[in-house]
Amino acid sequence: MDGDVSAPRTEAIAPELAPAGPAVDVDSAFFWEGLAKHRLLILECTACRERRFPPVPSCPYCGGVDSSVQEETRGVIYSWVTVHRALDPAFAHQVPYTLATIDLRGGGRLVARLEPAAGIAPDLQVVAKYVDQDGWTELRFTPDPGPAIP
Ligand SMILES: [Zn+2]
Repeated sequence: MDGDVSAPRTEAIAPELAPAGPAVDVDSAFFWEGLAKHRLLILECTACRERRFPPVPSCPYCGGVDSSVQEETRGVIYSWVTVHRALDPAFAHQVPYTLATIDLRGGGRLVARLEPAAGIAPDLQVVAKYVDQDGWTELRFTPDPGPAIP
């Protein structure tokens, strides 16, 4: 290996190594359609108001089956890991990259890539960003210098 190993590789990769898109099902279709429109949508239980991710048909907190779709864009870092060795060859050209667990404002926790990851810390405020891939949109987060999240 040569050069700066901390810098992401940016050379083109063979199409057969490109990351596959999501497996969209009836429960997650709204989420992926929202991302395609650069909107982060999450389910909120009508009975107990807990938000949940990934999208599932009933509430894991109270068992309720009624929910509404809420939009959120901001959250805070709960935890993270930086990947230095890709498990899938499709991601080998992107290492190192950082995957973070995000606690969304208003509730709900999900995992997404954080970039840039310099200065990452617990409770760092982040905001959603959208990366259009070939036929789907990937959710990522970036540090958010906006007003403090209560
Ligand atoms: Zn519930």
